[in-house]
Amino acid sequence: MNAPNMNPFLFVTDLDNTLVGDDAALAELNQHLASHREQYDSKIVYATGRSLYLYRLLASAKSLLPPDALITSVGTEMYFDRQHQQHDPEWASILSQGWNREEIVEIASQFTQLQPQPKSEQNPYKISYYLAQAVAGETIPQLKSALNERGYKIKLIYSAGQDLDLLPKNGDKGLAVKFLRQRWDIAPEQTIVCGDSGNDIAMFKGEEKSLIVGNAKPELLQWYEANSSENNYLAKSACAGGILEGLKHFSFI
Ligand SMILES: [Mg+2]
Repeated sequence: MNAPNMNPFLFVTDLDNTLVGDDAALAELNQHLASHREQYDSKIVYATGRSLYLYRLLASAKSLLPPDALITSVGTEMYFDRQHQQHDPEWASILSQGWNREEIVEIASQFTQLQPQPKSEQNPYKISYYLAQAVAGETIPQLKSALNERGYKIKLIYSAGQDLDLLPKNGDKGLAVKFLRQRWDIAPEQTIVCGDSGNDIAMFKGEEKSLIVGNAKPELLQWYEANSSENNYLAKSACAGGILEGLKHFSFI
């Protein structure tokens, strides 16, 4: 066995079908991560599409280590406190560039096809609607141009054939990871990001090490085929087992 790596590293992972999905492997991974954090001050970060509310449901059902930072709602909220009550003001000010929630909601309200999602899925930097797939193809470009006319170049992300998220142009997981590296002064080569699906690709575009779990979705596997480099690793094992494999591959543990 190689000597353990004693350098602190930044560990960033998606939750659903990446960190979570194999309870036995998760327990083993947690042991490694907890002891590395304790001994060498490594950082543990979760970056999820879930809202804070849905994150809490998952955290109470699975044994997740308390993270050093939590990124929820696809990068639009970031918390450093253990109770997740204080949305980080510095990150919020980055998100607020080119964003005015009230005006954007007003523009979107002209589109009767858009049904607002429950309050738990809304936040100051995320506006979420339900939009039927049958009309999405025509509605999204129309909404986009209505927003552009008023000067809003924001992100419109349609997923699962029903969810339309309106997000600030700076609201994504990849920029959030960069923000954390700067805050904690951690080099990209001492950072590993882990994911399983299309919304994780934003994290994989930087110079950080990236780990794709063995059970990754086709869109991410395709991305890997086109972009494979020594910084990207496709694990054989699924979920937390794949993460363990990747941490060893990159000699983080
Ligand atoms: Mg996932």
